[in-house]
Amino acid sequence: MPTLVIQTAFLGDVVLTTPLLAALAARHGPVDVVTTPIAAPLLATHPAVAQVIPYDKRGTDRGWAGVRSLAGRLRGARYERAYLPHRSLRTATLALLARIPSRIGFSGGWAFLYTEARPKPRTGHETDRLLALANGASGVYPPQLRPTASDEQAAAALIEGPFVALAPGSIWGSKRWPYYPELAARLGERVAVVVVGGKDDVELGDQIVSAVRPAGRPAVNACGRLTLRESAALIGRATVLVTNDSAPLHLATAMDTPVVALFGPTVTEFGFGPVRAGDVALGVDGLQCRPCSSHGPPQCPLGHHRCMRELTVAAVLAAIEDIGALRRRS
Ligand code: SF4
Repeated sequence: MPTLVIQTAFLGDVVLTTPLLAALAARHGPVDVVTTPIAAPLLATHPAVAQVIPYDKRGTDRGWAGVRSLAGRLRGARYERAYLPHRSLRTATLALLARIPSRIGFSGGWAFLYTEARPKPRTGHETDRLLALANGASGVYPPQLRPTASDEQAAAALIEGPFVALAPGSIWGSKRWPYYPELAARLGERVAVVVVGGKDDVELGDQIVSAVRPAGRPAVNACGRLTLRESAALIGRATVLVTNDSAPLHLATAMDTPVVALFGPTVTEFGFGPVRAGDVALGVDGLQCRPCSSHGPPQCPLGHHRCMRELTVAAVLAAIEDIGALRRRS
């Protein structure tokens, strides 16, 4: 009898759920997953996943009519058990209305709608906390994505040879480090630079590419030009990814690419930092206001944004150097 996982949180959360999917697949066989339309293609090629069921909770499937409609479809599949890593009323109700007899989620919130509630660890990395839902062992199943050969071709067509990838975007404005163009100008003296991101990042990508040009090395603005899985493939080819505390960090982890992650209003203790040995997280120590929010506010509530402005280009360059990405590949 099939197993279902419902994970409709943010993209990064979905990537960090891949160890849980692998642990569940090892026990029950490949699982079906309900997830967001944006994350669906990422999971569609994951070896632990049998089928992806996109759920557009903010679009075509929005509201309780959407929940009831999807629940009706899920009922037909006769799932034996559902794992519910995302604590939300919508998720809990979906599994209940789908009449899945065993519904396993984390304690608190809407746990009274589950048949089994397990405590979510308060500390540790989010991958391990999610694995607790399956009593999974830490480190056995790392985050993983599997772009296809055609995804790899699309990524390879953008640039040849070694390059440093920069991911300057974030949904939350206060999480954006403001010095990517300056960093790119310095990197461009030694190595090619590729900017990764979505359509919203195109303008910033152009600024970064313009900053590299005087240095003479190749620079490519890939923002908005690739699918998400192709972007994962591109990040997988980079010698290192420099990123804010946002989804590309987790894409790099899942593609086994070294990371220098820049934390401003958030901190790694929240559980969403780099997880691979050797990766680096940078942040400004000693700021009384830091951290100021679990996600990062749209703008600095104090106006000065010191948590990001005091993180220097020199410090980021030193971290890239320490990782060895420039030494090995330039
Ligand atoms: S209040 Fe402090 S931690 Fe929050 S965004 Fe501003 S500088 Fe950063």
